[in-house]
Amino acid sequence: MPVELKGSCHCGAVRFSLQSSSAVPYQLCVCSICRKVGGVGGSINLGGFHKTLKVEKGQEFIHIYNAVMNRDTPEEYVAHSERHFCSKCSAMLWVYDSEWPELVHPFASAIDSPLETPKMISCALMGSKPDYVRLPEGTKEVYDKYPPDSLEGWHKKHGLWVE
Ligand SMILES: [Zn+2]
Ligand SMILES: [Zn+2]
Repeated sequence: MPVELKGSCHCGAVRFSLQSSSAVPYQLCVCSICRKVGGVGGSINLGGFHKTLKVEKGQEFIHIYNAVMNRDTPEEYVAHSERHFCSKCSAMLWVYDSEWPELVHPFASAIDSPLETPKMISCALMGSKPDYVRLPEGTKEVYDKYPPDSLEGWHKKHGLWVE
C-alpha cells in the first residue's frame, strides 16, 4: 500500500493529505525557482498520486504560481506547471503539472508525517547554483541539469518504491 502523507502550510490555514509510493526526500533541486520560493538553498519534492490529494482545510487560501522561466531574457515564458502555495503564509505546498496529470509533487517541507532519512541525496540543476549555496552534508550525486532517474525510477532502483 502506498503511504499516506499529511501536510500543512506554516500558518496552519491549509491542511492536506495524499498517497505516495515515492516518499524518500532524496532529490534536492537548487534551481532559481526552488531556491527563491524555498527561501533556502533549494527545495525537495516528493512523488504522490494526484487523484488521492485531499485538501482538508483552507482551499480558499491556496494560490498558484506559474514560474517565470528565463526571466529578463528574450526566451522568457511562463511555465504551465503550477506551484501551489498558501496565500496567508507563503509556504509552498506542492507542484502539479498537467503534462503528468496522474502525479503531484508535494514539497517535503510541507509534509508533517515522518519521512525516511535518505542514505544519499541527488542534487539537481547544479548549473543554476551560486557558489555561496552549500550542499547538504552526506553522500550525494550532483547533476548539472536533471538526474537520469525519475522519482519513481530512483525509488524502484533502490528498493524504496512502496507498491
Ligand atoms: Zn499558511
Ligand atoms: Zn527546482
